[in-house]
Parts: sequence; structure tokens; C-alpha cells
Amino acid sequence: MRKKSVRDVEVEGKRVLMRVDFNVPLENGTVADDTRIRAVLPTLNYLRERGAKVVLMSHLGRPKGQRKPELSLAPVAQRLGELLGVSVAFVQDCIGPEVAAAVERLDPGEVLLLENTRFHPEEEKNCPTFARKLAAVADLYVNDAFGAAHRAHASTVGLTDYLSPCVAGFLIEKELEVLRRLLTLPERPFVVVLGGAKVSDKIGVVENLLNLADKILLGGGLAYTFLKAQGKCIGQSLLDEEHLEAVQEVMAKAQEKGVELLLPVDVMAAQVPEGTRIPQDPEPEGMPHQIVDAAHIPDHWQGLDIGPQTRQQFREAVQGAKTIFWNGPMGVFEWPTFAAGTNAVAKALADSGAKVVVGGGESVAALQQAGVADKMYHICTGGGASLEFLEGRTLPGVEALDNVRPAVAAGNWKMHKTSGEARAFVQVLAPQLTDLKEVEVVLCAPFTALTALAEAVQGTPLKVGAQDLFWQESGAYTGEISPSMLKDAGCTHVIIGHSERRGRFGSYEEFADWNLLEVFGDNDWTVNAKVKAALAAGLRPIVCVGEMLAERERGETDDLIRLQLRRALHGLDAEEAAEVIIAYEPVWAIGTGKVCDAEEANRVIGVIRRTLAELYDQGTAETMRILYGGSIKPENIAGLMAQPEIDGGLVGGASLDPESFRQIIRACE
Ligand code: ADP
Ligand code: MG
Repeated sequence: MRKKSVRDVEVEGKRVLMRVDFNVPLENGTVADDTRIRAVLPTLNYLRERGAKVVLMSHLGRPKGQRKPELSLAPVAQRLGELLGVSVAFVQDCIGPEVAAAVERLDPGEVLLLENTRFHPEEEKNCPTFARKLAAVADLYVNDAFGAAHRAHASTVGLTDYLSPCVAGFLIEKELEVLRRLLTLPERPFVVVLGGAKVSDKIGVVENLLNLADKILLGGGLAYTFLKAQGKCIGQSLLDEEHLEAVQEVMAKAQEKGVELLLPVDVMAAQVPEGTRIPQDPEPEGMPHQIVDAAHIPDHWQGLDIGPQTRQQFREAVQGAKTIFWNGPMGVFEWPTFAAGTNAVAKALADSGAKVVVGGGESVAALQQAGVADKMYHICTGGGASLEFLEGRTLPGVEALDNVRPAVAAGNWKMHKTSGEARAFVQVLAPQLTDLKEVEVVLCAPFTALTALAEAVQGTPLKVGAQDLFWQESGAYTGEISPSMLKDAGCTHVIIGHSERRGRFGSYEEFADWNLLEVFGDNDWTVNAKVKAALAAGLRPIVCVGEMLAERERGETDDLIRLQLRRALHGLDAEEAAEVIIAYEPVWAIGTGKVCDAEEANRVIGVIRRTLAELYDQGTAETMRILYGGSIKPENIAGLMAQPEIDGGLVGGASLDPESFRQIIRACE
């Protein structure tokens, strides 16, 4: 589900509380690097031009809940003012009467910066009372602090309970778009370069990117644990014993998947004097150092950089790549003798011709040191957040923002549950959903259970749907049920053209593939008649589209889905279409052992949304909900919902049990 952005809300004259990441380096009381301040200027200018009163808040450093004058944001207000060309007001707290008074004084287009949120211990504890105080001065919330999006703090998550709407700024949108691209259809070859000190920081990323990357290059301190796991002698080099096993598994998996995993073949090692802190202390003078074979680092020697042969290999490995992600220096680049590897890799990336995405504080510093920062495609403003995202985790600061459309969780019970069972189901589920926000939950039951179910859901957020209908209102149609009969039974929704009811009347192979289910005989045109009849009766159709295995293998997926949509919605105007919910069923992946992963589901649903925009207009396409109707379970729903195009699920088997369906509903919030 896409999150709402500043573009989706009215801001004129509104007090906008905006979380930014102004965690910038300070030197002698002034801002030493203003990259992070510049990064939010697009959102800031957008808001100011539209007459918003902008209140900014941020953390800076780690004051650990205490007021530390050296971590005041006052110098940032100064620098921001210079960049904007207007004066930026500043208050010495982030909550309280002084803040309220300062906000009161703001005119449209003016900017106020609040003091470091981490001067209050409640910030990092995500304390609700504190969050409410933060929220008290504003009409709406904008989060543009990508660098803090992986933290569930009061200013990133807590206050979203007390302010509405809560939307994303342009920086968060841009960062997510770039990173998502790496996880969905990166241009190939896709090469990942990882370094830095700790295995624990990066192992999750290696594990996840093994599924996507063509090559993974490992340097820096973390490479030695990999070398050790291969049985090599690493001397005194950094070793993370706890992760030895995980590292071994990763190497085995890489081999299994045919992903090339490159490790250093030679290193620049040194005899580091006892007690030296790396890299905080300056490089010890006269420290013995030499290039050694990565498999035979002598005792008492420590690998601190990749050697010349490795540099050459890494350079060759990134040539011809189309996409590269880099995080973590190749060595202790802060010490001049050990900076060559990192510099060489930075230059190799710049020369590779690939779109290079870089994340991580030290990596960015290294890029600047090598003078190639402007050759990069994208530099993330949040190292930690980008790594967590690439691990496949969701970011709490993003999750807490409003969805652009209300999500839908529809349970398709198929030929299951009597009236009594339907009632019992509601009795268990409904009490657990009293605080449900913005999810349309629909239980689609067999005809015989509809009336009982409709009674049971009264006073709950649950809605009732049927699984089919006939398009005539009355007449000689033995066994059929009309739209108004469904209304009479208490339905608000109806599933139309489910794959189990459709037939395609193509070749014999398709017929066999279809498993005799086409006895029900729904096709694109009966679906269209049913959609029109449902809308005329005031029922909301959930229209299923999707392709079979043979169709997918012939590469017909996108065209077929466009055709199904055009026919299903034939004759509907934009206003009518906006009522319709679409569900994409990858029929080829249901019960076949084949998987339609979240990325592919997102891609096809993107095709559906573009088709809707072509058939109607962008606005209509943006309001229509498009669900995934594959095998949804509590385990995979979060990954699906993190995809921007997926607005919810049409859930089969997992909707029969109130507990598993509850988990799915909650993941849709
Ligand atoms: P980033 O900030 O780019 O994400 P990390 O914080 O993960 O990078 O790691 C950067 C640190 O790793 C640097 O300070 C560097 O000195 C250290 N480092 C790199 N290689 C080694 C090594 N071989 N031994 C010890 N420390 C290393
Ligand atoms: Mg770092």
C-alpha cells in the first residue's frame, strides 16, 4: 500500500509538524556538513509555497534524555535560515507553552525549529503522553526523516496516534522508491558491495540480497569472519565468532543459488600496538604493515584493508554492472595507510557506468574523500534505515503513516461454514477489532449463511459479502440469486469472476489445466453483466482477474489482464468504476507449488493500476483498491502490504480461522 504524501493533503494555513533528520555533524558550534538539511528542502519549500506554517523537529546525537547544550539544534536553525534565505525561528524545547506560543506567532510560509527531541527521555521510549504533547501544536504531521524511520520513537511513530492526517515528505518517498527498486526488478547485473566493521550489521542484508543480487563483494572488517569460516588463518583480524555459523550458511546458500560471493584474496595487514582504538585513535606512527595473502595472515597481524590484487578483482567485478548497492568501507579508511582499498572501490563504482546507490555514514564520507560523490545515482540519508529496508524489514516510521486508500481484507470462505459456524466466527473475531482503523473487512460466506452472518456483524466493523450472483433481478432462473436478494440478506459486497468460477474455452490443454472447474462457466462477459447488476443494486463488486500457467508461460500475462479488466468494466463510467475492488489472482501459483512473490504481485498490480488510469483517469486509478488474491497467510501478508501497489488481500483458507484472519487484518492497517 502506498502511503499518503504531502501531495495528497491540503496544507494551506495549516500548522504542519514535520519530523526531519537534522542529525548533522557540528564543529565549533556550526554545521560541518549540511547534506541532511538540504535533503528536506524540496518538502519544506513545497509546504511554504502552499502557505503552511511549518514546525520542524529532529534529534541530534545521543544526549540520552538530558539537555546537552553542545547537542542543541540552534546552529541548525541558523544554517537552515541561510539555505532558505529567510530567518528560521527557534525554541529551546520541543513541547510546552513556549512552543505553543511560538507556533501561534507563525504566519503562513514561516518556519520554526524545535529543540532536540532526545533531550527528553520519553522520546526514545515512545511515551504516549509525550507524543500527545508533541502533537498538540499541529493540524497535521509530515515525516521526512528517512534516517530515523527505522526507529519507533515518539516523534516518528507515537504521535501518529494523536494527529491526522500523517503523511510522507518527498525525501522519504524518494529514498523508498530507490531502495524498493533494488528489491523489485533491479537492472541486471546487480552487484552488492559490503564492508564496514560488524558482521551483525550486515548479515541480514547479505541473506536477503542473495535472492536478488548477481554478485556480492565483501571487504572491510566483516570479510575476515567469512575467511575464517573457510578455514583460513586471519591472525588478529576482526572476528565475530557468534556469527560463524550464519556466515557458513550464507556461503552455502550463495553457492546453491549461483550467486558469486567475492572475498579478499590479499590484504594490507599491520601489527597494531596493544590498546589502540580503531579508528578513533590516530594511525600509530611507524606501525609495521605489509601486503599479505588473505589465506595466511600471520599471527599478531591484523587485516586493515583489501590488497592491490583484491582491488583489481573488485574493479573487474563491477564493470558492466547495471545496478550497484554499496555499504561499508573496505578498510580502516580513516587511517591514510589503509584508505587505498576504499578509495579504489569508490572510484571503480564511479567508473562502472552502473546506477550506484550508496548507504551508510562512513561510506558517504569515503565517497567524498575519493571525490566521486557526484557520480553516484543516489546517496541514502539514512544508513541504518536503508540496511533494515534491504534486509526485507518494514520501517516503523513509514508504517505509521496513513495509507493512501483504505485497505481491504476480504475473506473468501468458499464452500465452508454453516450459519452457526459463521456466527461463532464473528463472536471470536469481532471483540478483537474494536480499535480497528481504516480497513474494510469483508466476510464472503456461502448463500445459506449470509442472513445469520449479517445479523451477527451488526455493531462490528465487519461487512458481509456473497461469492457470486446472477445479473437478472427476477425471472425463470432456477437456482440463481439476484442482486437485490443479496441486499435483502444483508450483503454489502460480492465477489465476481473468481478463478474457481471462470472458464476460458481455449485449447484442450487450457481446459485440462483448468481442472474441470469451468463447469461454472463465468467468462469476461458474464463478469461484466454481474458487475453492472451488483452496482445497480448498491453492492460493491470484488472483481477477480488473473492468468493460468500456460498463459503466463506464453508471456501473455499483462495483455490478458488488460483485456479482462477492459471487459469486466465495459460500459462503466469513472464514478461507477471507483466503487469496484479488483483482486489479482495468480492462478498459476495457487496450489501448484509455484510462487508469485510480493515483487511480482506488485508488478502485475501496477499493470492493473496503469490500465485503470488509461481506461479512466489517474485520480480514479489512485482511489481504486487492488487486492492480491494468491495464497495469503499471516506469514506473508506484511511483505505483500509493504508493496506500494497492493491494497489488501482476498484471503482463502487463512480466512476460515478467526485468529489467522485477525493477524492478516491487522497487517493491513
Ligand atoms: P557505514 O557507516 O558506511 O555503514 P560501518 O559503520 O559499517 O560503515 O563501518 C565503518 C567502519 O568500519 C569504519 O570506521 C572502518 O574503520 C571500520 N573498518 C573497516 N574495515 C575494517 C577492518 N578491516 N578492521 C577494523 N575496522 C574496519
Ligand atoms: Mg557507520
